[in-house]
Amino acid sequence: MFKDIGVAEIDTVLKKSHEAFLLFKRVSGVKKAAFLEAIALEIETLGIELIQQAMQETNLPEVRLAGERARTCNQLRQFSALLKEGSWVDARVDTAIPDRIPLPKPDIRKMLVPLGPVVVFGASNFPFAYSTAGVDTASALAAGCPVVLKAHPAHPETSELVARAIAKAITSTGMPVDTFQHVHSSTFESGKALVQHPLTKAVGFTGSFSGGKALYDYATQRPDPIPVFSEMGSINPVFILPKALKVRGDKVAEMYAVSITQSVGQFCTNPGIMLGVQSTDLDKFSHELGATMEKIAPGTMLHPGIAAAFKKNRERALSQKGVSVIAESTEKPKENQGVTTLSTVKASDFLNNEILSEEIFGPYSILVTASSQEELIAAANKLPGQLTVTIIGEDDELLQYAEFIQLLAEKAGRVIINGVPTGVEVCPSMHHGGPFPATTDSRFTSVGTDAIKRFVRPVSFQNFPDALLPEELKAGNPLGIWRFVNSEMKK
Ligand code: NAP
Repeated sequence: MFKDIGVAEIDTVLKKSHEAFLLFKRVSGVKKAAFLEAIALEIETLGIELIQQAMQETNLPEVRLAGERARTCNQLRQFSALLKEGSWVDARVDTAIPDRIPLPKPDIRKMLVPLGPVVVFGASNFPFAYSTAGVDTASALAAGCPVVLKAHPAHPETSELVARAIAKAITSTGMPVDTFQHVHSSTFESGKALVQHPLTKAVGFTGSFSGGKALYDYATQRPDPIPVFSEMGSINPVFILPKALKVRGDKVAEMYAVSITQSVGQFCTNPGIMLGVQSTDLDKFSHELGATMEKIAPGTMLHPGIAAAFKKNRERALSQKGVSVIAESTEKPKENQGVTTLSTVKASDFLNNEILSEEIFGPYSILVTASSQEELIAAANKLPGQLTVTIIGEDDELLQYAEFIQLLAEKAGRVIINGVPTGVEVCPSMHHGGPFPATTDSRFTSVGTDAIKRFVRPVSFQNFPDALLPEELKAGNPLGIWRFVNSEMKK
C-alpha cells in the first residue's frame, strides 16, 4: 500500500513541479531526447518483473502486456526522434521591412513553447501505454513540461516500478529532479485539488466519461481555466454495407468476434455497435458472429469496479425496449468476469433511446438493424461524437456511399474502411480523439507525435535582438531545422 497524497501535500508537489519547469523548459531538444530514450531503456531493463507485476494487478495476459510495453517504449523513442529533428516547434520567421510604405514591418518570429506543469491521470486499461510513462507523460515531457502523475489505484505497484525507472533516467541524464513526480490517491478531492492547483497548467486523462468530464469541469471552475485533454468513452460504430455482407459476411463476423472480445473488450476503441440494413445476409451475419462469440469464454476484467460497471451497464442495456440477446458466452462467468455478449435492436427503437448510444466497457456489442437506407442514415445522424467510425463495403458500393461516408467523418476522429477500430497504430498520422463526448477537445490526439501539441502554446517574439531569441528562431538557424521563413519552407 502506498500513502495517499493529502490535499495539503499537493501544494508542495506543484511548487516543486513549477521550480523544475523553470529549468526544464530551457533544456535542449537533443537532451530531452536522450532523457526519453533513457526512460525507455530503464523500462526495458525492468524486464519480466514489470510484466509479472502488471499481470498480477490487471489480469491482462503476458503477451498483451509485453506488446504494450514495446508500444510504450516505441512511443518514447518516437518523441525522442521528433525532438532530435526539431521542426515540431513550428518556427515561423517574418523578417522586418523597415522601409515598407505606409508603415514599416517589424521583425516577428513565432514558435511553440511548453505550457508548464502537467497533471496526468494514469488509465486502468493500459497500465503502460496510457499510464505512468505513457503517451500523456511522454508528450508532456517532450514538450518541456514537468509531469505530476496520479497513479491509477488499480495498478499502484506497476506504476511505482515505472516511476522508479523514470527517476533513474532523470538522474542519468541530469534532468531537474522534480521533472517527474509520482503520487497515489484514491479520493476525488485529491484529483480535484491537482487539477485546480494554480500552478497546474494542463491535464491529461483517459478513462470514464464521468471522470473525464468531472476533471474538465474542475478546470473550467478555476479563476484561470486550463486545458483538460480527457479521452473518454466511445462506442465506435461499424456500418456494414449490403454487398460486403453478401460477398464476405462470414469473414467480417470472424474479424469482429475477435475485435469485440480481445482483452475482455476493455478498449476505448471497442466496436460497441454495428449497424446495417435488414436482409437475409444481415441475419446470416448476426448468426455467424453470435455463434463465434458464444464460444468465447468470459474473461476476468481489470478490476472489480470495472467488472461491476460492466455487469450493471450490460443489464441496463439488455432491459431496454426492443433489445434482445443474440448470443452470450455459453460458459458461466466467475467473479469479476465479463460475459461475451451480442445483442440486437431495431433502428426504430434505437432512434428513441439514448441509453443505447452509451459505452458498455467490456466484451459487448449491439447490432442495430435498419428497415431502409434512410433509417440507417437517421441512426448515423443520431450518434454522438466518436473516436472512430468504420465502414465495411465493397469498392464499388463505397463509391455509392461516398456522401454517407462524408457524414460519418463529421462524427469521429478516425474513419476506417474495411478494418476494425481496435489496434491503434502509433505513428505521426494517427488521430486518436474525436468530437465530444469522445474527448473534451476534438482538435488534439492522444496517440502519435502530434500529442505534443496539447502541451504547448505559440509565442511571437517581436523585434528581438538575435542573442535573446530561442535557438530555433535565430537568424542563422543554428539548429538547422525546417522553418517557414517569409512564407517559404526552408532550412
Ligand atoms: P475512471 O473511473 O474514469 O478513473 C480514472 C482516474 O480518474 C482515477 O484515477 C480516478 O480517481 C480519477 N477520477 C475519476 N473520477 C474522478 C472525479 N470525479 N474526480 C477526481 N478524480 C476522478 O476510470 P477507471 O477506474 O479506469 O474505470 C471506470 C470506468 O471507466 C470503466 O468501467 C469504463 O466504463 C471506463 N473506462 C473507459 C476507458 C476508455 O478508454 N474510454 C478506459 C478505462 C475505463 P480515483 O483513483 O480516486 O478513483
